[in-house]
Amino acid sequence: MSTEEAKSLLARVRTRADAKKLGRWLDEQPGDTLRRAIIAEARARGVELPPQALEWPGKRLLRRALGRDAAAQVRSNPIAVDETFACANCARVVPFGGRTARNHCPWCLHSLHVDVVPGDRAADCGGLLVPVGAKYAHGQWTLRHRCAVCGAERRVRALEDAEVPDDPAALRGVASRG
Ligand SMILES: [Zn+2]
Ligand SMILES: [Zn+2]
Repeated sequence: MSTEEAKSLLARVRTRADAKKLGRWLDEQPGDTLRRAIIAEARARGVELPPQALEWPGKRLLRRALGRDAAAQVRSNPIAVDETFACANCARVVPFGGRTARNHCPWCLHSLHVDVVPGDRAADCGGLLVPVGAKYAHGQWTLRHRCAVCGAERRVRALEDAEVPDDPAALRGVASRG
């Protein structure tokens, strides 16, 4: 019920004015059932919101749930950025991912909280994303990261077919801890 309500609410946010108007409406709703449903729906779409999102003004919650930073323009189809970077945790230089954009270190599996929607580089947090879980299912490893600064969690696919693939031993190590 509230899932449907969350979906229809999100579908109605097309402009900043919509977010403002519907956000104000959301602020007037009693309880947090609908807010929780919005956060869950955002997660289902690949947008992880931090726990404190429950307390955000409705306008901000709606925009961020849609992967739109307050300062960013509407971005429904982010272009993933593939680039080399020095790992913020182990300092090794991480090579290009190739077919799939590289967003974490293949050796220590850490990343940086720089994306709102995976690959868009639109987050302003910049915290260290620590691998806290790994799961192997349907022939594919999935990593779970938690931001050391804001606590946001997100799941990303491990890179297994790149020239420098994610270290299988590191993945198994995280899996055994998580
Ligand atoms: Zn590293
Ligand atoms: Zn963060």
